[in-house]
Amino acid sequence: MIRGLRQIDAYVAGAQPSGDKMIKLNTNENAYEPSPKVLEAFAHFDGNCLRKYSSLDQAVFREALSKQLQVPADQIIVGNGSDDILSMAFLAFFNDDLPVLFPDLTYGFYKVWADLYHIPFKEIPLTADFKIDGADYHVPNGGIIITDPNAPTGIFKPLDEIEKIIQANQDVVVIVDEAYINFGGQTALSLLEKYDNLFITRTFSKDAAFAGLRVGYGVGNPRLIAVINAIKNSVNPYNLDALAEKLATVAVEDWLYYEGTCQKIMTTRDWFAQELVDLGFEVLPSQTNFVLTRPQTVSASHLFQKLQEKEIYVRYFPKVARLKDYLRISIGTQAEMEEVMSEIRRICG
Ligand SMILES: *Cc1c(COP(=O)(O)O)cnc(C)c1O
Repeated sequence: MIRGLRQIDAYVAGAQPSGDKMIKLNTNENAYEPSPKVLEAFAHFDGNCLRKYSSLDQAVFREALSKQLQVPADQIIVGNGSDDILSMAFLAFFNDDLPVLFPDLTYGFYKVWADLYHIPFKEIPLTADFKIDGADYHVPNGGIIITDPNAPTGIFKPLDEIEKIIQANQDVVVIVDEAYINFGGQTALSLLEKYDNLFITRTFSKDAAFAGLRVGYGVGNPRLIAVINAIKNSVNPYNLDALAEKLATVAVEDWLYYEGTCQKIMTTRDWFAQELVDLGFEVLPSQTNFVLTRPQTVSASHLFQKLQEKEIYVRYFPKVARLKDYLRISIGTQAEMEEVMSEIRRICG
């Protein structure tokens, strides 16, 4: 018997199956490859520089982001995926006796971090039509985190409604997780000048086809950035590796390419959603690279199983009561989604 070991309810990430034929639509990865300039920079990367530690302040990458976002570089912190940034943000900003608020249906990691760091929290139920009701967030709290557009619903909450939540809670930090913002939502970046309690996080995993490289960032008032930097320097000062910094910088400089692939994904998403609706499925309105849908004629678990037999992997949440009749399907290429659609028709027909 070893004393002192901790018991943890860990986050359960989407599976990473492998196979040549498979269509992988279970973790919202990007359907298209990184930009040609990124692939070229990767091929010519000077491996000898890996001998040294990576940059401490990641100034080159932050400068590129600063230009792209039109935000001063001292308001940006970068990290090893946005999970890295979010986990540090929980430690940096949520240190009150009152509970941190987030929706009952949202990114599953929030609850895990709150538990892990002993942060009191309260899950606010989404409305019957899976929306965030801003009025629910006008109560005493120790901070707020909202994903916009939300996952796994895909629903975007308009910016003026987000602003009301930030405005009503200016004595705590409000984090807006914009993991899917480039698939049709409207960013809250413009609110940064008005509110110093706003912290926005972004990831390169979904829109920039970098899930395997691990790049994310946060944007906020320099006072917030200073606290989160202190956390970074207390856990993992070189949190972004040299290869990731180089390739992510090239990606930002070639962002036009990603606007093109995001546009293709949105077009395919809207086509796919309409096909499902035509089959009688319920489909939540999505501004992301996935759809949440309730199948007709067969159960979600049956469809999940049958698709998996054809090596089509989607996400099913059997343990979440409100989602047990739904599947979350990431949007692949148009060709992939046409194949998925004919398979769904075969199973449900
Ligand atoms: C994917 C995702 C993340 C994590 O992104 P990484 O950069 O891959 O760590 C964070 N928040 C939400 C809502 C996500 O969907």
